[in-house]
Amino acid sequence: MMAQYRRIKGGLPAGALLLFRLGDFYEMFFEDAQEGARLLNLALTRRQEVPMCGLPYHAAGGYIGRLLRAGRKVAICDQLEDARPGKLVKREVTQILSPGAHFDERMLASGRNNYLATIHRLGPTLGLAFVDLTTADFMVTEVDSEAALLTELDRVRPAELILPLEAVELATLLRGARPASGEALSAGAGPATDSSPMPSAGAPAASPGARSSPVSGRGWILNSYDGWTFAPETAQFTLRDHFKVASLDGFGLRNRSAAVGAAGAAVHYLTHELRREVGHLTRLAFYQSSDFLVLDATTLRHLEVLEPMHRDAPRESCLYGALNRTVTPMGARRLRDWLSQPLAAVEPIRERQAAVQLFVEQAAALTQVREALKEVRDLERTVSRLSVGAGNARDLVALRHALLQVPKVRAALATLPEVPAGAAGAAGPEFPELGGAGCAATEGRGVPSLVRVLAGQLADCPELVDHIGRAMVDGPPLALKEGGLIRDGYDASLDELRRAGREGKDWIARLQQQEIERTGIASLKVRFNSVFGYSLEVTKANLDKVPRHYIRKQTVASGERFITPELKEMEGKILGAEERSAKLEYELFLRVREAVLACRPQIQQTAQALGQLDALANFAEGARLHNCCRPDVGNDSQIVIRDGRHPVLDQSLTEERFVPNDTALAGRGPGASAGASAGGAGPELAPQVMLITGPNMAGKSTYIRQVALLTLLAHAGGFVPATSARIDLVDRIFTRIGASDDLVRGQSTFMVEMSETANILNNATSRSLIVLDEIGRGTSTFDGLSLAWSIVEHLHNQVGAKTLFATHYHELTELAGRLTRVKNFNVAVREWRDQIVFLRKIVPGGTDKSYGIQVARLAGVPQSVVERAKAILRNLEESELTPEGNVRQSARHRAERDKLKALAAPPQLDLFS
Ligand code: ADP
Ligand code: MG
Repeated sequence: MMAQYRRIKGGLPAGALLLFRLGDFYEMFFEDAQEGARLLNLALTRRQEVPMCGLPYHAAGGYIGRLLRAGRKVAICDQLEDARPGKLVKREVTQILSPGAHFDERMLASGRNNYLATIHRLGPTLGLAFVDLTTADFMVTEVDSEAALLTELDRVRPAELILPLEAVELATLLRGARPASGEALSAGAGPATDSSPMPSAGAPAASPGARSSPVSGRGWILNSYDGWTFAPETAQFTLRDHFKVASLDGFGLRNRSAAVGAAGAAVHYLTHELRREVGHLTRLAFYQSSDFLVLDATTLRHLEVLEPMHRDAPRESCLYGALNRTVTPMGARRLRDWLSQPLAAVEPIRERQAAVQLFVEQAAALTQVREALKEVRDLERTVSRLSVGAGNARDLVALRHALLQVPKVRAALATLPEVPAGAAGAAGPEFPELGGAGCAATEGRGVPSLVRVLAGQLADCPELVDHIGRAMVDGPPLALKEGGLIRDGYDASLDELRRAGREGKDWIARLQQQEIERTGIASLKVRFNSVFGYSLEVTKANLDKVPRHYIRKQTVASGERFITPELKEMEGKILGAEERSAKLEYELFLRVREAVLACRPQIQQTAQALGQLDALANFAEGARLHNCCRPDVGNDSQIVIRDGRHPVLDQSLTEERFVPNDTALAGRGPGASAGASAGGAGPELAPQVMLITGPNMAGKSTYIRQVALLTLLAHAGGFVPATSARIDLVDRIFTRIGASDDLVRGQSTFMVEMSETANILNNATSRSLIVLDEIGRGTSTFDGLSLAWSIVEHLHNQVGAKTLFATHYHELTELAGRLTRVKNFNVAVREWRDQIVFLRKIVPGGTDKSYGIQVARLAGVPQSVVERAKAILRNLEESELTPEGNVRQSARHRAERDKLKALAAPPQLDLFS
């Protein structure tokens, strides 16, 4: 057996743990046993000096899951025949699992993909491919910097990363030992980079294949694979062979060698290293990040787009969680993509909006579609499982059930009116004041609406539905080889076998009555037991009446069990028939599963389309529930929002009602001034920089995030919680949340704050939206104030980006007088008997009061301390009132500020001050 073990182990990918089936256990041996025992916290035993570690077969799933989570590959070696004494059982590896390639429901989240990622560097270009075996999603892209690579990885969060063995530098980068540059640090900084943002000198270049721990400091699971499989020539061959095409141009991969390398290696790794069936990977989508609104990892995190910042916060406290009302896992995954990769062009956004609007207006159809979709479940994963031979009979039944919903979805969609040409009314009568330049003109004319396109992609595969319906019983068991799967009447030979079995059983059922009559033993019973088979049981009291031809078989507590030759014969017939019919049922099941393959492309496309419909219906449902409006998107550079609400807090606030607020911003781009007047922001030009001051807890952070979230949502094609909104497209959303607001992440170092700021200042354009919260708080007051001051100036004078700047430095309000496009706002508070009431309303004008004492009182600082502080403050204020009655800063403070003003004033701006 050890020879068998060695042979099998020798054929495995390096680093795979071999689980070797021995009776009711999976055993690991030698170093696998040591490693397994450590990872699973199991006992390490020894037999003849061989270290062993066993886990029970029936609980294997959970243990395997833990090994995968630890980043390990796991090879499962099963017994291919029943054990017979004295004979070596035939064993073979039946599956090789890895974190990025498994179908274990317990570890898959229905709302997210489970990607295996491959990376290939070619000169300055990095190719990046993602494959999800469970959904058949296969995408590839190219990026031109390590920072962009980290951003993309952070967005997608693959379950496993595969690098070429030789790519030591890349492995080091991904292990988090060395941040690529200032930008990478901010763009991709995972939780690991906070404490030591400086390059750790002389960190050993860990071999990417190092077996010790595949889990990197950044939290990625890194594995490596032969470099030659990434070489473009090999990879090209692999892909052409896989897709059975002569050229990859059709995939948009012409001259994309790095992308080809990554995608080809992914297929090679799955088929050769993990020996997977990948026929269901029928699509490969090339995309470029420039096709989408750029959201770096920092922004995704700060805006809590996909997950809450605080680990233990409820799911609904992030944007995805709050908006997710999808009813299928495909829809949930699609929504996740849409939110993390919003669109960057007006047309496709309007297409989605038009679809959402149709659903909003046609409530009955919306409900019908969602009701039908609810029953579809995870069609995408079901069909993937079935096509890679992992699916069971329940998957077939689920597939049929899902396909049965398709006609219902189609019927509901058919009731939607086609958007009449030219009358699509994007901004419609709802937004007369917004004008919606160009929306209505281009939409709906001759182009079928997105809903129509998606409806056209739905296939209900009636033959397959019928086939499964005829073949499979309604609630089949999980086990595939024990019968009970196939309906009567589906297959003549199965019916025949079943009849034989049934007749045998009837014969046995009659036997009991017969033998009672024949022997006069009224308590005689026919028994069945899976080990001993059929028998006639006679109680002790009646043993003297047992006929001679009964053969004693077994003694039980209450009496004896017997068989007769004819019972034995009938037993043979029944069991033979049952065994053969179970076998035949399995074969028939395989045949039905095979039939699915013929429809696979249509089903995959249907699943995709249903996912998109679900995501669109989701936006519509949310819009109806929370009174959202269709934002008017365009290519100017304005953001004008009436009564905007924070999409997450608006839904979750229970104690107070969320107070809506307006926004008007205009970038300094070419269309800025023209747009501002057309946008109805009032006679005044919309400012480029909104500088928001106000006491702690007033709602500054909430407001500026709200504007960013609404902008993001508009790019994703969703409706936004506001009474009206005009949101021109931005090229990037940048965020920087000040140090103390970000403490939980442990990212409080000033260095991180500044490198994130550097990233913004270096990369923002006049088309960007920038959200800066409490910039400079991580250092001393005057340091921070000076930095904040010069940053605003730079954004105003050089960058021109639309900016929301929340700060507790009320000195900054001075800037509004000096810079034309900076405007002061504050969050209104009302003082009431020396308490403060937060009104949550953003109003024009600066503040010069911080209400710190009132906030301290709200927070429960002892009354005596609060009273004393008030007395001190009064003293300070009395001596510091200006002739106009305004509060003046303390002398030292004022002197510093005046100095700053003098230094900061750029000569050309003196004109305005
Ligand atoms: P700041 O940044 O000014 O210190 P926050 O934005 O963190 O204040 O807001 C503090 C709290 O006030 C939030 O947690 C939220 O509960 C509440 N809040 C903020 N804005 C609003 C609003 N517009 N309507 C209702 N409550 C709000
Ligand atoms: Mg704040």
